[in-house]
Amino acid sequence: IQFLSDRINSLTTSQTLAMAAKARELKEQGIDIISLSLGEPDFNTPDFIKQAAIQAINDNYSKYPPVDGYLDLKQTICKKFKRDNNLDYSPAQIVVSTGAKQALFNVAQVMINPGDEVVIPAPFWVSYAEIVKIVGGIPIEVPTTIETDFKITPAQLENAITAKTKMMWFSSPCNPSGSVYSQNELEALADVLKKHPNIFILSDEIYEHINFSGSHCSIGTIGNLIERTITINGISKAFAMTGYRIGYIGAPEFIAKACTKMQGQVTSGANSIAQRATITALEADPSVLKEMVQAFKNRRDLVVKLLREIPGIKINIPEGAFYVFPDVSSFFGKTLNGTLINSADDLSMYLLDKAHVATVTGEAFGNPNCLRLSYATSEDQLTEALKRIKEALK
Ligand code: PLP
Repeated sequence: IQFLSDRINSLTTSQTLAMAAKARELKEQGIDIISLSLGEPDFNTPDFIKQAAIQAINDNYSKYPPVDGYLDLKQTICKKFKRDNNLDYSPAQIVVSTGAKQALFNVAQVMINPGDEVVIPAPFWVSYAEIVKIVGGIPIEVPTTIETDFKITPAQLENAITAKTKMMWFSSPCNPSGSVYSQNELEALADVLKKHPNIFILSDEIYEHINFSGSHCSIGTIGNLIERTITINGISKAFAMTGYRIGYIGAPEFIAKACTKMQGQVTSGANSIAQRATITALEADPSVLKEMVQAFKNRRDLVVKLLREIPGIKINIPEGAFYVFPDVSSFFGKTLNGTLINSADDLSMYLLDKAHVATVTGEAFGNPNCLRLSYATSEDQLTEALKRIKEALK
């Protein structure tokens, strides 16, 4: 568009949000759409956290908070990093932001110069490549397939690194594949990174608690990688608090300081009420999340079982987050009920039109062979959605 900046014109609209908007539009026309497109828990925020937010209002937490977050919140985050991840951070290394998304944005702004390359294993969360592009960086996508459980190998990482590589960004558990890197796998990647001491690592661990593999490893615990790792986390997914908009980083102090400087010119800091509620959330023993995690696991099992019954769909077993990422490439070039399917985009649209189920095309996540289905909805809805998909794919 003529009057807008090159920056915004070169940006892709978030495909997940676009799909959600389309599904909402059809719903408003009275069509019974089942949405498996959005990335948020369908649970309510636990009551004890809601009470903390109400208390914060009554206690008049209404003034500008410190740009990098309340000190007692940062202290709580340090304790959480030690308790859950065995990571040693001090409060000066913590920055609290308006969602993990702003935390990622801050890191990009303070670390990446135009032309710098950022290695991003694909599939990746939609915003990684776009955020890197906004600051002039070059996302270097490293493709993986369902055969390797959508995880990169050390050789792939080595091959992707050039003299221009500044960072590597990844999430484990991964959105959209649900893949979880084991400690051994991370150690093997760390061996490569040790040979390249100028590369910084962004480890997005926002799904750490929604992990059915039994263990979560933070790459910052390996060797002395903590000296160049930015650990990202937040409360959106684990505590069903997407709307509170709180995320945070633990990072080398010079990076934390730079992010605070950046944030001071953008938001002046994260919402005060939400910060107080976050203290209560993070102080709680993670076992309070047990029921929610078990519900996600049951749904995962259900969805994997139902998808396996659909001819033509290839699926691995995701070990975390709340997504499945089936390979649907066997349908490309086929005609389903008069509609020619040439891509995951086509299939996602077809499923919305014919099955009235909203999914997201894998294109958005850097893998054009797959679809992402979120199972953050009830087992009844999932069963009905998968029945409709099976019927539409006959
Ligand atoms: N990182 C990943 C991998 C995500 O999937 C999301 C949300 O979908 C975020 C970060 C952003 O989370 P927040 O709500 O804290 O901004």
